[in-house]
Amino acid sequence: MIKEILADLVRIDSVSTRSNAEIVAYLERRCDALGLVTRRFPYIDDHGVEKINLIALSHDVHEVELALVGHTDTVPYDPNWAEATNLTERDGKLYGRGACDTKGFIAAALTALEKVKPGKPLALVFTADEEVGLLGAKKLAQAKPLRVRYSIVGEPTSLRPIRAGKGYSLAEVIVKGREAHSAYPALGASAVFRAARLITRLESIAAQLEQDQHAAFDPSYTTLNIGLIHGGSAKNVFAGECRFTLEWRPVPTQSSEHVLELLKAAIADEVKADPDFQCEVDASRQDTGFETSPHSPLVQLLQKATGNEAGTVAFGTEAAQMMTLGAEAVVIGPGDIREAHRTGEFVPVDQLERCAEVLRQSIAQLCSV
Ligand SMILES: [Zn+2]
Repeated sequence: MIKEILADLVRIDSVSTRSNAEIVAYLERRCDALGLVTRRFPYIDDHGVEKINLIALSHDVHEVELALVGHTDTVPYDPNWAEATNLTERDGKLYGRGACDTKGFIAAALTALEKVKPGKPLALVFTADEEVGLLGAKKLAQAKPLRVRYSIVGEPTSLRPIRAGKGYSLAEVIVKGREAHSAYPALGASAVFRAARLITRLESIAAQLEQDQHAAFDPSYTTLNIGLIHGGSAKNVFAGECRFTLEWRPVPTQSSEHVLELLKAAIADEVKADPDFQCEVDASRQDTGFETSPHSPLVQLLQKATGNEAGTVAFGTEAAQMMTLGAEAVVIGPGDIREAHRTGEFVPVDQLERCAEVLRQSIAQLCSV
């Protein structure tokens, strides 16, 4: 029963910092009982902790018609939240960490497979480390253990099919100056003044990016933010260094390199104006967006099954990695993203049950022989 599966999943603490071995062992047992072949893809994370991506197949093949994808990890929870690992039902809602993000979807996928046997190959893909940068999905996208035709990626969308998502990129910009007593400007060069000039150029770049419109999104263009800045050591010293964090969310029709190139051009302009200008760029993250045509059979099917028009989101999901495996991908799941990642996370029971039915229909249609 779906609520029991969800209660089992919520009971297993699978915060991203811990190994997900326990929840994977549980999922393996469930998949074995469904007659699926399971395969582990383990790796050691940056903190020396074992993480496992798990793939369960209805047919022992390399190419599958449909993949249902859910991440096994959750964000941390307040230790004082008693329901965090003890699924609790109240007023038609099930409360617990991961109830909507994304254990509810996993419970729905397992329940759907109890009711329909796929004629064509189907895969369940359970990933690790989604909440800390889609790391598990990126490993799978590199290893390419599967070719996938259609993919349904679980995330709380209140059962609205999401057919496109913006990418996510980060760069640390380190501007160098020369320290000197602030009473003697000729002896030094302020990294803070230099960074300020570069940031003013970035503000113009942000305005310029609004010209490249992608109507399916809100906002309908690539957005750019400088969320962090740090520079200098004392009020009377010219700053020797100023660093800031640049973040941008590219529309999927734009390469994630585009903003990086604009940044480099802005730096080159600064160097032209001030040959002493020095700056390093550490581009640490380049997650691409994804887009599936509104005419895709998968989008059409999910719109019909849910009665909800397909939409887009401005945050990163594992759909981009599934596209790397060849899939037309859609993100969908029970619960509201605004309820995820906070104390009191819940999934409405009716949405949870409808999700299982939507997945059952999807399997029946896409995997019929
Ligand atoms: Zn999630």
